[in-house]
Amino acid sequence: MKILVVGSVALDSIETPFGKVDEALGGSATHFSCSASYFSKVGVVGVVGTDFPARHLEFLTKMGVDTDGMEVASGRTFRWRGYYEFDLNHAHTLATELNVFEKFHPKLPPDWCDAEIIFLANIDPELQLEVLEQVTNPKLVVCDTMNFWIANKKEALNKVIEKVDICLMNDSEAREYCQTYSLLDSANKMLSQGPKTVIFKKGEHGALMFTDSTHFSAPAYPLEEIKDPTGAGDSFAGGFIGYLAKTEDFSEQNIRRAIIYGSVMASFNVEGFGTDRLARLEVPEIGQRYLEFKEISRFE
Ligand code: AMP
Repeated sequence: MKILVVGSVALDSIETPFGKVDEALGGSATHFSCSASYFSKVGVVGVVGTDFPARHLEFLTKMGVDTDGMEVASGRTFRWRGYYEFDLNHAHTLATELNVFEKFHPKLPPDWCDAEIIFLANIDPELQLEVLEQVTNPKLVVCDTMNFWIANKKEALNKVIEKVDICLMNDSEAREYCQTYSLLDSANKMLSQGPKTVIFKKGEHGALMFTDSTHFSAPAYPLEEIKDPTGAGDSFAGGFIGYLAKTEDFSEQNIRRAIIYGSVMASFNVEGFGTDRLARLEVPEIGQRYLEFKEISRFE
């Protein structure tokens, strides 16, 4: 199945206790596409400025990502600057420069309007809604967001959540969105808005899935070396949705397996800065780590 993603394509400047990068290729759509491209065909809709290095678009194409939906607009590319302390679950934002995103309206290439799976990655929820207006008959719609949009565009975000099948969020963002400490309360509130499934990403503590009748808890992979957690959420989404697209099965059992593939891809992503690690991932490593996940969470 084809996956269409709309989200940010960014130049990220990041500092962690283990190093720093300046204006590296990033953004929610970028991390998602690199991850999902290991499983299925992905088309990205987004915008960059005239300052965006051509080598980054070439890199996405090399990863097998269809960039026909990428607009190059006059102006500067979206930029995000942030840092992490030793608690790598918490990103500190220093600056968010929307730049070309301020005037952007997504236009889907005709070939992608019929994509079976739509991923509304972290971006202005009004743009997420504009994408939904252009798709013809998707079989699965998934969304993600972040505190920036919960704080600034809550009403539009409510409308997005009403229209999706699966909603992904970080645990802290779910608490903020639902104004409650309890993740179970948050899940119930979000499920009552429309989605059939909600998944809370908990960084180094794994992920939780809720439906109206079940609850699944996935572990995280105990990594020895982490360099940069930026994009972990998006690469989780890439592995999760990529696996669903590849297997064409949206049953609850398969959603559980897909959550583990999401966790596998997130665990690779954090081993390098930006897209470094996913760029040099070998396919057999994915299966190998999936089996390790199985082993660390098995008990009789
Ligand atoms: P995550 O997977 O949550 O770590 O997402 C990291 C990516 O989100 C970075 O590569 C940033 O460029 C991007 N980002 C940061 N702030 C925003 C925002 N307000 N809207 C869209 N993307 C963002």
